[in-house]
Amino acid sequence: MNTINYTKQFIDNDDKKAVLNVLNSDYLTQGKYITEFENKLSKFFNSKYCTTVSSGTAGLHLVGKALGWSKNDYVVTTPITFVASSNSIEYSGARTILCDIEEKYNTIDPNKLEKIIKYSILKNKKIKAVIAVDYAGMLCDWEALKYLSNKYNIILINDNCHGLGSKFKNSNSYALNYAHVVIQSFHPAKNITTGEGGAVLTNSKMINDKVRSFRTHGVDYTKKRKYNWDYSIQNIGYNYRLTDIQSALGISQLKKISKFTKKRNKIAKYYDLKITNNLIKLPLTKKHVYNSYNLYPVKINFNASKYNKLVTYNLFKKNGISLQVHYKPIHFYEYYKKKYKFKRNAFPISEKFYQSVFSIPIYYKLQIKEQNKIVNLLNNII
Ligand SMILES: *Cc1c(COP(=O)(O)O)cnc(C)c1O
Repeated sequence: MNTINYTKQFIDNDDKKAVLNVLNSDYLTQGKYITEFENKLSKFFNSKYCTTVSSGTAGLHLVGKALGWSKNDYVVTTPITFVASSNSIEYSGARTILCDIEEKYNTIDPNKLEKIIKYSILKNKKIKAVIAVDYAGMLCDWEALKYLSNKYNIILINDNCHGLGSKFKNSNSYALNYAHVVIQSFHPAKNITTGEGGAVLTNSKMINDKVRSFRTHGVDYTKKRKYNWDYSIQNIGYNYRLTDIQSALGISQLKKISKFTKKRNKIAKYYDLKITNNLIKLPLTKKHVYNSYNLYPVKINFNASKYNKLVTYNLFKKNGISLQVHYKPIHFYEYYKKKYKFKRNAFPISEKFYQSVFSIPIYYKLQIKEQNKIVNLLNNII
């Protein structure tokens, strides 16, 4: 029996041809497909600039570098995100501040965020940026976040790694209407894939110039060169480039984003309808939001159910279904626990969320038979 995973990429013949085409060409990296992929992404997000990078994590890292975060700075994110969001703060030596999520949509709570900002002003701590996550494909309250960003002069970063294909008021380029920077990942668990890969989108020339330079060892492309072989290094950067092989795959995958998102929505609608167990809370929808459904997180009341979380996980596993947990809260990881000494129950909604959440399978090729199996297990064994 094949295990059904919570996610799976979809690769077709066009994708394979696109990759083979690059393999048969003169440039495997630093050729024309990188630029073409960046142009396509810019168009999709209606952004002035796009710089592709080797992963979403690399993108987050470079944004911190570009914004000059250092050890006296504070950056906010939520406990319920992939650890790369907060790791990227730690890379720079800045300190991570966590802000709890709201219960309904599992995204950052703007009211709690404002309290944190006000408190930090009292304590003379400068909050430089907020990394907000469009968790599972559901949008944060971007209008409220933008209001706070303007009021307190804080940079907004949309960790949009789940959000490619989501829409707000019918627009899939909503993200840069609110955030100063948008981060994408093209890991196979995301909505399109290049194997590994990511992108930084922004309308700020300053941010993009810096990200671009840090992506390639710190080469400064804005300085005039006397000799063609020469280049200027003003800062130490990295090799965080995406290859042309990956970019060609990305271009081919991006063509399918609307098809992918439609299918994910179809599966989500089916789950919405068929999962009738009243111990289970389904992901909610929000006005004006079209969700990409990168994940379909269900919240199960294990206090009232026959089986606890572990037993339930194992029961699914025995039935060939591999559930996943997105996410264990950041402040539960040893590094963060030790460094920040968070109080018990410091983020009650996130902690309650973790006790109840499982991501059930949702991806392009998930068959109706498999969906039914998942629905039946949820309705009958819990
Ligand atoms: C996947 C993901 C990342 C990191 O992306 P990689 O490409 O795997 O480095 C960051 N944040 C969130 C919310 C993610 O889901």
